[in-house]
Amino acid sequence: MLCHPYSFNALRPLLASQKVTSIEVVRQFLQHIHTQKDLNAFVNIYDQEIVEQAEVVNQKIKADKGGALAGMVIGLKDMVAYKDHPLQAGSKILTNYISPFDATVTERLLAADALIIGHQNCDEFGMGSSSENDYFGTVLNPLDKTRVAGGSSGGSAAAVKAKMCHVSIGTDTGGSVRQPAAFCGLVGLKPSYGRISRHGLVAYASSFDTAGIFAHTVADCASVLEVIAGPDAFDDTAAAKEVPCYTSALDHPGPYKVACLAGTLSNGGLQPEIKEHTLRSLELLKKAGNQVDNVHFELLTYALPTYYILVNAEASTNLARFDGIRYGYRSSHATTLEEVYTKSRTEGFAKEVKKRIMLGAFVLSDSQCETHYVKALKVRNMIKKAMQDILNHYDFIILPTTTTTAFKVNSFASNPLSMYWGDLYTVLASVAGLPAISLPNGVDQKNLPIGIQVIGNYFEEAKLLAFASQFEAIVQ
Ligand code: GLN
Repeated sequence: MLCHPYSFNALRPLLASQKVTSIEVVRQFLQHIHTQKDLNAFVNIYDQEIVEQAEVVNQKIKADKGGALAGMVIGLKDMVAYKDHPLQAGSKILTNYISPFDATVTERLLAADALIIGHQNCDEFGMGSSSENDYFGTVLNPLDKTRVAGGSSGGSAAAVKAKMCHVSIGTDTGGSVRQPAAFCGLVGLKPSYGRISRHGLVAYASSFDTAGIFAHTVADCASVLEVIAGPDAFDDTAAAKEVPCYTSALDHPGPYKVACLAGTLSNGGLQPEIKEHTLRSLELLKKAGNQVDNVHFELLTYALPTYYILVNAEASTNLARFDGIRYGYRSSHATTLEEVYTKSRTEGFAKEVKKRIMLGAFVLSDSQCETHYVKALKVRNMIKKAMQDILNHYDFIILPTTTTTAFKVNSFASNPLSMYWGDLYTVLASVAGLPAISLPNGVDQKNLPIGIQVIGNYFEEAKLLAFASQFEAIVQ
């Protein structure tokens, strides 16, 4: 098991023996936030509140009465509700909106004595891969400030990397936890669809959305998942399955059977160093006794169009509720009811979101529904079945997380559509609803982190985390 100085599991014994107090830890993170404001990782910082909470939690730790995450400092993507705190999903349209309730994730974290430090910047409504946010500004990559931290949960990744919190909770609809984790050299977990309740997450595409976890180590991910996973009366899509003890399953030694999707490595758009590092790691896995086979997967090129048709369709209906009346921003230029709707939405949403709402409405329209939306649903089922077939014979599917390492800020300003290609490898697990994790896999010639992605079978997060932990030890 890997020990990182900023991992919570490394700190836990020091907190327990009171060599370090929770208040000191929080103050150090707050200092890192304030000295690195230029990264633009946070949209709201709860500094006074967290210090008060840390005092209470520290007393509990002293009395040996702390919860499972006592003293863990956590940041929330600006898509995760925290009662009586602002929630904007990175959008002007939610200006001044205060959440009247906690997301189930938030409630469970607080009940385990975790400490919430603030809300983090992201792409508006989770739509994007770069966290170049029109309203809150761009999140910069702590490893190279001329580059993006990835997206859409870019602020969440930057914050963990820049030592502003132990862990962040992001959301992952098509890669928004795994891709920024890869760009920032972190572990990023997207569990199976339905493993974590979506209650209190701002909806982007409801049949894809999952909460996800950013951490320095696999063990920290396991500790958090154990607390936040599980059924929830507020979300019928949260599976009724029991939550295993992920932390105690981490030491399972394998060996495992791994399928490498051959087509992913022959893709011309793949940065050569990512290919080299993926191949090198597969060799290391073989040497450690695992079986690694190349497997043919014909549907790779269908995953992206399927994903973008379906998520836009779902987004166009999910975002219909932002009408200038029920939430947040209302245009001051409207003179009629219809203008309240149109002007509030026109002024409140930025370009990318508007584009997606229009595309979504188009694919759902009477004349296009059969040829686009319904067809995409069918292809989604084919992809699910093909992935399932592979996972009936193998424990895991391995592929790169991204096609490139972190790109420069503004790279896609003149052609935003081409940014979608970068999601090629992450959307597969999202279309199928499978659990997937991105792990650090070395650096390229510019010293930028490379990520490798491991996809597991439905609800087999325990096995996935155990394998990830083995990988962490082999590759570091
Ligand atoms: N980049 C993808 C998109 O824009 C994924 C985003 C996400 O997972 N929230 O849809």
